Amino acid sequence: MRIVLVGPPGAGKGTQAHLLAKTLSIPHISTGDLFRANISQGTPLGLEAKAYMDAGKLVPDEITIGMAKDRMSQPDAAKGFLLDGFPRNLGQAKALDEILADAGIALDGVLDLEVPEDEVVRRIAGRRLCRNDGSHVFHVDYNPPAQPGVCDECGGELYQRTDDTEEKVRVRLEEYHSKTEPIIGYYADQGLLVTIPALGKVSEVTERAIEALRGK
Ligand code: ADP
Repeated sequence: MRIVLVGPPGAGKGTQAHLLAKTLSIPHISTGDLFRANISQGTPLGLEAKAYMDAGKLVPDEITIGMAKDRMSQPDAAKGFLLDGFPRNLGQAKALDEILADAGIALDGVLDLEVPEDEVVRRIAGRRLCRNDGSHVFHVDYNPPAQPGVCDECGGELYQRTDDTEEKVRVRLEEYHSKTEPIIGYYADQGLLVTIPALGKVSEVTERAIEALRGK
């Protein structure tokens, strides 16, 4: 399957993408994780992306699209993929259409995770990520690790993202409303969109997502 996940920051895209990718046996491709990996490795791409990410702004398309395309052309993505955080504006959505058309493939569905804004802020403020693998995501209250500060899955150190502050979250939400939300209509027009409420237990949301994608 080829799936795109959309939703505001803090909707649980990363958490759900990790679980869905495992269930569906397809790679989880997160542009946010790819940028963070580039930053921690000190690559030129990482250096360029960092200023935008720290400000809560979208990284320019010239950088993002090439990086996403490279990742999608890796052998493990030949059988399908779950895109998390890409596309994030109409230009990227159209670029993705071209990449897929050139490869003679198409998306199966776009899953939109819906969550109220006050919940987003609570989720982000308590979010902790694993240094070894950014798709291992926890929350200090809602999804705490067995041992504080330690990843349940691999024992890695948990940390808080530098853009997970209330001020940055506000900017990220503005970016989401003005730039990312338009892609929801774009995919609805193509009959690809399924929207599910992303409230409740992590496992309940995963079940809802699988059910919603079954028809796609
Ligand atoms: P979240 O969905 O919680 O905001 P991500 O890890 O997906 O977190 O993204 C973090 C940051 O990485 C974004 O605020 C943005 O700066 C950058 N980013 C990720 N994906 C994209 C993209 N497709 N286009 C532009 N910037 C991106």
